[in-house]
Amino acid sequence: MENKTVYLNGHYLPLSEAKVSVLDRGFLFGDGIYEVMPSYSGHLFHFQDHIQRLENSLAGIRLDNPHTREQWQEILSPLLDRSIDQYIYLQITRGVASKRDHAFPDGIPPTVFAMCSKMVPFAGLNQGVKAISMDDTRWGFCNIKAITLLGNILHRQAAVDQGCAEALLVKDGYLIEGAASNVFAVIDGVLCTPPKSNDILPGITRDVILELARKNDITYREEKIPFAALENASEIWVTSSTREIIAVVELDSKPVSDGKPGPVWKTMNQIFQVYKQSLIMSEQTFFEFPCEFPVKAMGKADIELDVLVLEIVRRHAPDVKADAVKTRLSKDGNFIAITVIIEATSKKQLDAIYQDLTDHPDVKMAL
Ligand code: PMP
Repeated sequence: MENKTVYLNGHYLPLSEAKVSVLDRGFLFGDGIYEVMPSYSGHLFHFQDHIQRLENSLAGIRLDNPHTREQWQEILSPLLDRSIDQYIYLQITRGVASKRDHAFPDGIPPTVFAMCSKMVPFAGLNQGVKAISMDDTRWGFCNIKAITLLGNILHRQAAVDQGCAEALLVKDGYLIEGAASNVFAVIDGVLCTPPKSNDILPGITRDVILELARKNDITYREEKIPFAALENASEIWVTSSTREIIAVVELDSKPVSDGKPGPVWKTMNQIFQVYKQSLIMSEQTFFEFPCEFPVKAMGKADIELDVLVLEIVRRHAPDVKADAVKTRLSKDGNFIAITVIIEATSKKQLDAIYQDLTDHPDVKMAL
């Protein structure tokens, strides 16, 4: 067992030393929820969306959120490694009660556990995978990311037993989702996925794909898909944070289309990879914060540009003194360059200053 550092109830400790009582309600009842968040080069992917889903799951099982979003970020950050892609597993249970009783115990703290694992690229990405279909036998709150996963486990194992990577679940004749993934199909040239409901987990990967489809003019529909319609599907995909977008090339021993990942999958997978990379780049910075940073802006010399720039900078760096401002006229005297030296605290702060400066009509250029 890899003895990595994990987080348990306020402490960072080696995995081998992380212990939970047998009276923990997660152990006794599966009374808890979890999240899985990818981290690319140390950047948590769609962190706010994952935390929002965590909050929804907690509300769904009537368990108070023990931390603010900022605290969650602080708790998880030390587990991340900037040199690799990883995923965080975060679990919260209703804690350790003094006796086994179905009803909620009073006044006990939840158990919070988080660990990070290396994200290994899915081996079958370029060939696609085989899947089986099964009647969905899970419970009525599949929108909650509950640790109680027996239904999902039995479905996935049935697929594995038949040499397949995933089980596609069917309820009342409609395609629902995979045992551990959401599902998409290309039918009559349109990308379709089942709508959100209590029957499916609202996948973050699913939402990102729909957003990317919208931005890239790929026609899509969120609508109920009769399982029979898959006969005419030119492509089927399953999506999740850890496997990303995987084409299903064989369903119930029959090839999907020509039995190879299709063109829409290829396009979307490429768009998804570029999008991931762009997020990493946009968060990356060459500066170590806090640091001294020269904010520069240029505009016409016939207005009080120094006053304007200082006012804008102070919106995001209120402590800046008036003597931090330097001005320089262009040779012909028509333009003025303003430099304000600030104590920058984050890239977000610098981005906000840059945005406000470039939004102002009197600022012709900002650096
Ligand atoms: N549905 C189920 C049942 C899942 O377990 C998962 C995650 N493994 C998903 C959908 C996909 O969700 P996400 O894209 O947020 O990983």
